[in-house]
Amino acid sequence: RQPTDSPLYPLLHAASEFYRQALKNHPARQAAVSYLKKRGLSGLIARDFALGFAPPGWDSLLKHMGSDPLQQKAMIDAGLLIENTETGKRYDRFRDRIIFPIRDSRGRVIAFGGRVLGDDKPKYLNSPETPVFHKGQELYGLYEARKHNRNLDEVMIVEGYMDVIALAQQGLRNAVATLGTATSEEHLKRLFRLVPSVLFCFDGDAAGRKAAWRALESTLPSLQDGRRARFLFLPEGEDPDTLVRAEGAEAFQARIHQQAQPLADYFFEQLSQEADPRSLEGKAHLATLAAPLIEKIPGANLRALMRQRLTQITGLSGEAISQAPTPSSAPP
Ligand code: ATP
Ligand code: MN
Ligand code: MN
Ligand code: MN
Repeated sequence: RQPTDSPLYPLLHAASEFYRQALKNHPARQAAVSYLKKRGLSGLIARDFALGFAPPGWDSLLKHMGSDPLQQKAMIDAGLLIENTETGKRYDRFRDRIIFPIRDSRGRVIAFGGRVLGDDKPKYLNSPETPVFHKGQELYGLYEARKHNRNLDEVMIVEGYMDVIALAQQGLRNAVATLGTATSEEHLKRLFRLVPSVLFCFDGDAAGRKAAWRALESTLPSLQDGRRARFLFLPEGEDPDTLVRAEGAEAFQARIHQQAQPLADYFFEQLSQEADPRSLEGKAHLATLAAPLIEKIPGANLRALMRQRLTQITGLSGEAISQAPTPSSAPP
């Protein structure tokens, strides 16, 4: 998936070191330090996630890395510098932002996320796609989670960098985040090679609920028997960061224990909202939506059990259901 060797790796590493040092030493660092403190993060967690600070100004990194034209060209390829196509002028991509290095499974820095300290837009800026960074495949925090525990039994999938880090700060060290993209089948395949269980915990808002259903669809092809996926839905307006900081790790874990919904339960609950199983028409619709999705499950036992549940809900026999026409898409 990734080149084993690329001249971009040492550049990305050097940039990461520069940002890290800037968080420690740069004259303008205080705003960044205060921001991280305000969000409840300790120096130790900042160190574990190699957080940094991109100083304000257009050429902090550029000057630091020197004027070798070949190297500057490579820094553009790495997404660290931007070149103005009209003037040819080069400048730092990340300016006046908290920096989150994104590391691959071996710990090599492959990209960055950057957050503004205030309310400016865009709130987050990510590295572009580069030869070493394919954002649809990477999971932020996976390297750090595995470094902390080689034998994870469950990974929690959240939406944002700050969710991963806030959970880690509270001792929940198994969270990973997709990088502003939907959870893909590729992500799930990768995770299930490492752990038998995933827990989705998206933001308590419409976007988060929509993301959960898409995540369910991406999970189905990975569901061999012995694997499981669960969903934790947060109260409206909360995300894992705000919630774990408000209620603490123990309460958050109790919430997982009491409220995390097995995939199959969420599946039928969601479809029953889409198609009301109290009427025959609703039952027919529900079967039409459910059947093709159930057929994506590779685990023969889980597949059989879900067909059985569909039979219980609709009264349709297994044979009748499998003859249902295939709809193009599913809710919500
Ligand atoms: P914070 O808590 O720092 O305000 P968040 O992580 O809760 O941010 P969300 O709006 O919930 O922010 O977005 C979740 C994730 O989506 C972010 O962590 C980031 O990876 C991605 N994201 C959000 N806004 C943008 C953006 N403007 N450009 C690119 N990616 C973004
Ligand atoms: Mn959100
Ligand atoms: Mn959020
Ligand atoms: Mn947030």
